[in-house]
Amino acid sequence: MREELVFVGVCDIAGHVRGKGFPLSELPSRRHKGVGWTHSNLMQSAFGTIFESPFGTAGDLMIVPDPAAEVRVAFDADTAVEHFFLGDLRNTDGSPWECCPRDFARRGLAALGKAAGVSLLSAFEQEFVYTGAADLPAHAYSLAAWRGQGTFGETLVAALRAAGLSPDSFLPEYGERQFEMTVAPAAGIAAADQAVIAREMARSAAVRHGHRAVFSPVLTADGLGNGVHVHMSLRDAAGAPASYAPGEPMGLSPLMRRFCAGILEHLPAIVALTAPSPVSYLRLRPNRWAPTAIDIVQQDRGASLRVCPVFLPGEASDVARQFNVEFRTADAAASPYMVLGALAFAGADGIARKLDLPSPEGRRPLATSLAEALDLLAGSTAARGWLGPVFLDTYLQHKRAELAHVKDLSLPELCARYAAVY
Ligand code: GLU
Ligand code: MG
Repeated sequence: MREELVFVGVCDIAGHVRGKGFPLSELPSRRHKGVGWTHSNLMQSAFGTIFESPFGTAGDLMIVPDPAAEVRVAFDADTAVEHFFLGDLRNTDGSPWECCPRDFARRGLAALGKAAGVSLLSAFEQEFVYTGAADLPAHAYSLAAWRGQGTFGETLVAALRAAGLSPDSFLPEYGERQFEMTVAPAAGIAAADQAVIAREMARSAAVRHGHRAVFSPVLTADGLGNGVHVHMSLRDAAGAPASYAPGEPMGLSPLMRRFCAGILEHLPAIVALTAPSPVSYLRLRPNRWAPTAIDIVQQDRGASLRVCPVFLPGEASDVARQFNVEFRTADAAASPYMVLGALAFAGADGIARKLDLPSPEGRRPLATSLAEALDLLAGSTAARGWLGPVFLDTYLQHKRAELAHVKDLSLPELCARYAAVY
């Protein structure tokens, strides 16, 4: 005998989806009041331990499910139906809590609307290692590696579709047992919701095969990284593409150029939000098709922002529709809400201040450690304004406690520790 359960959760600053469950029959009342939560849950680390919290043991919050972020996937008759909602952290009076990651993204997207009347369309391309794949060294991108994952890929793609996403690709990557999945772009907050859902579907499909999908930024100190690449384009108020302008440098419209300039201007600080673990900085090193500098380059996989190619450019309208810029400086230790919020706020600031792109000669390096990135985040007045002082200080306290928590581990131990939890 079995009774269906529902889970309501939020993808928190550790990048984990946490929340609570209840019987399906309780859903009507739970739609409004959600599930109970407390402020100090935000200090729950990637490793489960709750770090010392500015909130102590006091206070109550709610995670209120968003009907637009409901997933119900019945994998097979023998395993539980995966039924969950992503939601918002709210105070008990229903107002948004100032440290809600999803609200941070929503506020960033609103800032973009205010700065230029545009919306952000994005698609998250995510890499991970499937532990159930055949051991085939030296089989980067090969058909054998693709076949070597057995039926996991088919299960994953079916789950993504059943969850309401539009799978675009599933492929073997460069690293051993490494794969990548991409879904079609979505507007606004939905893109981050879908990134969270896609990760969970990969984890869930893997578990049903008796294995894991590991999203940690690196699995070994000198191995290849698992990146999260965000393909971004702007849409005007009428929904028309607004990123491309023929004849302009790299094809960027003035609006998109300023949007990208804002991201690069603030990248020293926001990388602490988009690449938020110590092992993230083992990925951001040379010769791994991962960024090491604050730069934008046409069709270069080593850049922080890559101006993507347009395939078989036909009519101008088709080029404008395909045209996008890829942010490559993120990984799955980050909540997609923190990534999207940071990109939207930074881009909106670039538009509002009419910033120009840095010259290729003035390329600055990216931070080489989380500690360095956190100091730059702490010193950013702009980030303090976007996050608000309470959220920023709590974030810094969380991440610095995480660094202290792992400070005595050797590099192999550190990688293993993160691979075990992401
Ligand atoms: N694995 C690389 C990264 O860490 C990216 C490889 C690719 O370009 O797809 O971002
Ligand atoms: Mg890739």
